[in-house]
Amino acid sequence: MPEVSIDLSPEHINVDALKVVKRLTDAGYQAYLVGGCVRDLLLGSHPKDFDVATDAHPEEVHELFRNSRLIGRRFKIVHVRFGRDIIEVATFRAPHSEMQTEENFSDGGMILSDNIYGTFSEDAERRDFTMNALYYDPDHDTIHDEMSGLEDLGNRQIRLIGNPDNRYREDPVRMLRAVRFKAKLGFAIEPATAEPLKRLGVLLRDIPPARLFEEVLKLFMTGHGEQSFAVLREYDLFGWLFPDANRLLDNDHAAELIRLALASTDRRIAADMPVTPAFIFAALLWQPYVEQRARLEAEGESTYIASFEAANDVVGRQLQVTSIPKRFSGPMRDIWSLQHRLPIRSGKKPEALLLHKRFRAAYDFLLLREEAGAQLDGLGEWWTRYQETSEGERDELLAPATAAAPKRPRRRRRKPVQPS
Ligand code: ATP
Ligand code: MG
Repeated sequence: MPEVSIDLSPEHINVDALKVVKRLTDAGYQAYLVGGCVRDLLLGSHPKDFDVATDAHPEEVHELFRNSRLIGRRFKIVHVRFGRDIIEVATFRAPHSEMQTEENFSDGGMILSDNIYGTFSEDAERRDFTMNALYYDPDHDTIHDEMSGLEDLGNRQIRLIGNPDNRYREDPVRMLRAVRFKAKLGFAIEPATAEPLKRLGVLLRDIPPARLFEEVLKLFMTGHGEQSFAVLREYDLFGWLFPDANRLLDNDHAAELIRLALASTDRRIAADMPVTPAFIFAALLWQPYVEQRARLEAEGESTYIASFEAANDVVGRQLQVTSIPKRFSGPMRDIWSLQHRLPIRSGKKPEALLLHKRFRAAYDFLLLREEAGAQLDGLGEWWTRYQETSEGERDELLAPATAAAPKRPRRRRRKPVQPS
């Protein structure tokens, strides 16, 4: 087994993860830190989470740790809890090629079930990228590197283990993981690993919406969203996640709005400020929403009804690809609908809007729209001034109330909209 003595940044190693490894090895099992935590430690950065791989079976791990829980259906793993930290302990697994029986694979070659334990070497082989198949043994301070991950790490290369086509077919989400690591680490995707991406993006259609939503969060909400967006587009993968938005990226600075929203989220994460998927999804789906609303208005709907229905249509279509939990789609729709109320600069409306619980997000969104190129007659600046002005003097900023415009006659019923 190739072994290298190495100096990991020990100050970044989670002491609880070390405790887990020690208790397992004291009990006679093999146990290593593995995956992203080893990769990140070698790169001198702070790992997000710590994973342990062992030859102990889940029930055996569970017995050793009172503070542990067995989880998962497809493949059981054990969560060992220390306060708010959770160390994930997984039993060595065999690569998927070991069990290419029909019931384990869908027609397209996707893995349906892989609940089979394996040896240490098999576990290394079934991981996605070589840099993610490094095992750290804290007792001896050595790294086991069966897949030449250290070399690739040194060359800053993302390389799939095994045949790229097969590995993407087994699990198409690996394509998004390649993109994410390129965006996050600034590494290159090695040519054979990159080659199938444009060709096999279509396989993402088979991934359940809930899993794709999780991947979208990891791409866009972990500090490198702007870069993830660029790399997704580079490999023609963005459209498999946001088909409607992708078709309209060239219209009205839509791509620029998305880029700015992601860049702003990245800055907030770097500054430890709160962020929400609602804001990012509002930007991602803004252009489809605006164009659907315009279509409905052209058919004679009032702005109010058209806005409501357009939001329903756009969200409904996106839900077929990625889920968007209601706790995010609700606020996202608020951000959109407030965009229609922000332009009213007279009467009591502005004062009331300030109190809206989504005012701040809607105002930030308005500023981004203008920054992206929307011509809104200085609206963002007006709202900035309005907020900076003391309450008693705000009236001076208000436009004189105008006579209400005559209402357009409304058509009774809406024609069914052709899906475009
Ligand atoms: P992050 O910094 O985002 O946590 P990570 O590499 O740790 O990156 P995880 O999703 O935490 O990613 O997965 C932990 C490890 O499990 C990976 O490093 C890799 O070895 C393995 N792994 C995760 N997803 C897959 C996959 N789809 N196919 C094969 N191996 C995977
Ligand atoms: Mg991880």
